[in-house]
Amino acid sequence: MPPLPPQILLTIAGHDPSSGAGITADLQVFSAFRHFGISAITALTVQSTLGVAEIETVDPRLLAHTLTHLTNDLPPAGVKVGMLGSVAIAETVAEFLHRFAPTPQKQGIEAGSGSSHTSGIPIVLDPILRASSGATLLPSDALEVLHKRLIPLVTWITPNWSELAALTNLPVGTLAQAEDAIQILAARHPHLTIVATGGDQSQPTDLLRLPSGELHPIPGEHIATTATHGTGCAFSSALLARLVLGDPPLQAVRAAKMYVTEALRRAPGIGHGKGPMNLLWLLA
Ligand code: PLP
Repeated sequence: MPPLPPQILLTIAGHDPSSGAGITADLQVFSAFRHFGISAITALTVQSTLGVAEIETVDPRLLAHTLTHLTNDLPPAGVKVGMLGSVAIAETVAEFLHRFAPTPQKQGIEAGSGSSHTSGIPIVLDPILRASSGATLLPSDALEVLHKRLIPLVTWITPNWSELAALTNLPVGTLAQAEDAIQILAARHPHLTIVATGGDQSQPTDLLRLPSGELHPIPGEHIATTATHGTGCAFSSALLARLVLGDPPLQAVRAAKMYVTEALRRAPGIGHGKGPMNLLWLLA
């Protein structure tokens, strides 16, 4: 029998020319899980393992055109949204994501209400605000646009602790504080499945909250390495890759976390700063 065609996954994210994070990393992750990756670039960055030197967002019109032209031909089974770079880009992406929202008539519910996405494709938002080197990847005036326009249209969100703090205006420095902030975020967006990622903490526990209110702590292993560039990008892409394979939420999060842990352990050790992981280890 011929093999089944691969599932098409779309990443909407920034371009990191060092391939540790952003579009080129996401495409490696999709390939590792044997999906077919397609992409739309939100911003170009001048970047290496030593950090981000410059950012230029693309013309929002070009991004909108890319997204419609591309997906009319290659409809995705799932979408990952990463670096946005500006309010105008965030609004453009939100406009595009409307096409995946089930209509209120079909669902018999109000647009934007809690469970409007239970039957749609998985859409994972990695709310990237800052690079680990410190560069701002989304200005703070875009946060309300995320809340009002974009988050209502995604099914999953994967903030790290500092992103969770920014999204909720709460301090997040302990697991208990992360739990409190997750509940505040969930109260504002009850349809969301939330993973607060603790991978950058010395005790790397993720917290998964389902729309039902169930909360699962997922402890992880700390890997002593400087090759930590793009861990958030890789985790959210791996999560999407597993979700489209049909994993239930807890299983998908555990698998994505294990994938990133191994990618860190097998990092190639290149670059003079925060190096890339080995995102293709699954194919070894
Ligand atoms: N550059 C781009 C284009 C990204 O999408 C990301 C994602 O987080 C980063 C840089 C930041 O990566 P890191 O936080 O590992 O520095």
